[in-house]
Amino acid sequence: MIYDAATLDTPLVLKADLCVVGSGPGGATAAMVAAEAGLDVILLEAGSFVPPSRMTQREERMLPELLWANGGRTSRDKAVHIHQGRGVGGSSLHNINLCKRIPDVLLREWNLEHLPVERWHALYEEVEELLQVSAVPEAAWSVHNRMLQRAVEAKGWRGGGLQHNRTGCVGSGFCLLGCAWDAKSNALKVCIPRLVAAGGRVLTHAQAVRVQHDGQRVLAVEGRVLDPITRQPVGDFVVEAQRVALAASATGTPALMLRSSLPGPEVGEGLRIHPAVAAAGDFDEAIEGWRGIPQTYECTEFLDLAAVHGPGSDPTAIGKRTWIVTAFAQPVGTATMLPGFGSAHLQQMGRYPHLGVLTAMIHDLTPGRVRPRGELGVSLDYWPDPLDRRELLFGLERCCELLFTAGARRVYIPTDPITEIERGQAFPFDELHRYDLDLTAVHPMASVPMEGGAVDSRGQHLHLEGLWISDGSLFPSSIGMPPQLSIYAMGLHVGRALVAAG
Ligand SMILES: Cc1cc2nc3c(=O)[nH]c(=O)nc-3n(C[C@H](O)[C@H](O)[C@H](O)COP(=O)(O)OP(=O)(O)OC[C@H]3O[C@@H](n4cnc5c(N)ncnc54)[C@H](O)[C@@H]3O)c2cc1C
Ligand code: SF4
Repeated sequence: MIYDAATLDTPLVLKADLCVVGSGPGGATAAMVAAEAGLDVILLEAGSFVPPSRMTQREERMLPELLWANGGRTSRDKAVHIHQGRGVGGSSLHNINLCKRIPDVLLREWNLEHLPVERWHALYEEVEELLQVSAVPEAAWSVHNRMLQRAVEAKGWRGGGLQHNRTGCVGSGFCLLGCAWDAKSNALKVCIPRLVAAGGRVLTHAQAVRVQHDGQRVLAVEGRVLDPITRQPVGDFVVEAQRVALAASATGTPALMLRSSLPGPEVGEGLRIHPAVAAAGDFDEAIEGWRGIPQTYECTEFLDLAAVHGPGSDPTAIGKRTWIVTAFAQPVGTATMLPGFGSAHLQQMGRYPHLGVLTAMIHDLTPGRVRPRGELGVSLDYWPDPLDRRELLFGLERCCELLFTAGARRVYIPTDPITEIERGQAFPFDELHRYDLDLTAVHPMASVPMEGGAVDSRGQHLHLEGLWISDGSLFPSSIGMPPQLSIYAMGLHVGRALVAAG
C-alpha cells in the first residue's frame, strides 16, 4: 500500500525488517527485491505520490511538485543549478529516459571486488529487460534532433541514435514535467507495483532526518512528516528496523549519513554532477523543439573514455570528456533565460519556435562536497576546476559550431547580459568565470563511493551493521553519461546483497 504520512496520526511509530529511504531508481529497486525475497519493507519518500493522471503538463504545477526547491536547487554559491527530483519514483518521474551503460574501460579501472565487469554486464541485461529498453525508432526523431544529426554528419563527427525506456510513447515532448500517458517504464511504473504486491509499504511526505544507532548497528530511522503543500514539518515518525538502506540520492544520502554521526570516515566529499553548458541557435526554419521525444540523437565525437582512463591514457587531454545532445526548456523555463522586459522580451520569445538548443555535458573530475543544512536541507559546494572549465568551454564552442553547421543565423549563450554570436564571428570566451555562464547539472553521483572507506562494493556500510547504501552515491567517479540504468543496477545488486546478508 501507499500511505500519505500527512493523513496519519503522529507521532507515528512503525516496525519493519528493512527501511529504505528514497524511492528513486536505487531505492525502489532495492525495496522491490527485498520485499519479493520476503522481507517486510517500508519505503520512505519525502515527496508525493503523483500518478500519471495528476501529471498536468503545466510548468507552474509540475516543477514545484516533482523537483526539490521547485526546480531552483543550486550550489551554495548559486553558481550551478543542480536539478533533482522528488516524489514516488524520484528523478525517474521527470527524467528524459535515456539509457546508457558505463563503458568497460571505466568499470575495469574501478576494479570493484563485488562488481567485476561481467557482473555489471549481467545486471545491465537484467535492468534493460526490466525497463523494456529499446532504440528510439528513427521515425520518432524530431526536427530538433534531426538538426543535430544533420550537423554531426556534415562535420563527419561520431554520433548516433539513443536508447530509452519508454513504451506507448505518443511523442508529446512533456517528459521533463512527468508523463501523463504513463509511457515511462520508470521506478513508479515498474518497481513500486511489484513492491506493493509483495506487501511493501510506501510512506509519502515522510522525510528521514537521521539514522538512529548505538555505534555498532542501526536501530531505526527518524524523520518528519511534511505538509503536502508547504513542505513544512507537521509531525514526527520513527521506523524501527534492523536494516536500513539509504537511497536518498547522491546529495540526500551523504547529508543523512553526516547528520546521523555515523562511525567511520566522513562522506560527501567526492560529489560529481556532470556539469553542462548550453547554446541556442536561431534558425529561419521552425524547429519547434517542444515537439516529439526530447533527446534521441547524441554526438559522441568528443566522448572517448578510453583516452582518459586505462593504459596509455592522458586524463588531462581536452576534448575527450564531452557529450553533446539537444536540450529544450518549456516556455516558462526559456522565458526566464532570455533577457529584457516587456516588448523587448516578448520579441525574443517570438523566436521560440525557431530556437534549436544544444548542450555539452562533461565527465567531470572535480570533487564537490555535500553537507546537511539544518534538519531537512542539503548544502552543495561545487565549482569546476581549471581542467573541467576548459572542457566545458571546449564543449560550448563545439555546440556553437554544430548550430552554425546546421544553419543557425546566430547563436545565443545564456550569459547575463545574453551573448549573441553572429555567423563567422570568433568564439568569445577564453575562460569560464563564476556566474558568467549558466551551468546546469542533473546527475549528482559519487558522494559515498564504493570501496572509498565507508562502504564496500555490495553497498554495505563497513562501520555500522545493518546500514546499506543503494543509489548513485556509490559510483567511485563520474561516468560521463546518463546514470539511471547503472543506478537501477545498483538497486538490484544492493537489494540482493542485503537479503543474502540476513
Ligand atoms: C531533468 C533530469 C533529466 C534526467 N534525464 C536522465 C536520462 O535521460 N537518463 C538517465 O540515465 N538519467 C537521467 N537523469 C538522472 C537520473 O534520473 C538520476 O540519476 C536518478 O534518478 C538518480 O537515482 P537515485 O535513486 O540515486 O536518486 P533520485 O532519483 O534522486 O531519488 C531519490 C529520492 O529520495 C527522496 N529523498 C531524498 N531525501 C530524502 C529523505 N531524507 N527522506 C525521504 N526521501 C528522500 C527524493 O525525494 C527522491 O524521490 C535525469 C535527471 C534530471 C533531474
Ligand atoms: S514524449 Fe513520450 S514519454 Fe515523454 S511525456 Fe510524451 S508520451 Fe510521455
